[in-house]
Amino acid sequence: MDTVQLVKWINALIRQHNIKAFYNSKLWKCVRIKALERDNNECQKCKAKGLYSEAQCVHHKEHLKKHPELALTLSNLTSLCNSCHDEEHPEKFYRKRKPQLNKERW
Ligand SMILES: [Zn+2]
Ligand SMILES: [Zn+2]
Repeated sequence: MDTVQLVKWINALIRQHNIKAFYNSKLWKCVRIKALERDNNECQKCKAKGLYSEAQCVHHKEHLKKHPELALTLSNLTSLCNSCHDEEHPEKFYRKRKPQLNKERW
């Protein structure tokens, strides 16, 4: 897949709120493994602080929605543990909290 196709595909998935399909794709799984191997399965943020944590996910430094063209670019990927990854995505917390706010008791 070339970059033009990649961007079209990801933008379509974003529109359909189906970005999961990207993360389930072979393309992603393949590049994800390469990133983990490069980073020795180690959280790169913890490593920078002199700590060791096993990497639990691979993060897009330039977020997928903003830079779909970098979705599969190894230099845009970094391995992180879950807690460091959450720090990189404050927007996720908003989304998680919102449904709770809607669960008001009547
Ligand atoms: Zn970490
Ligand atoms: Zn991320």
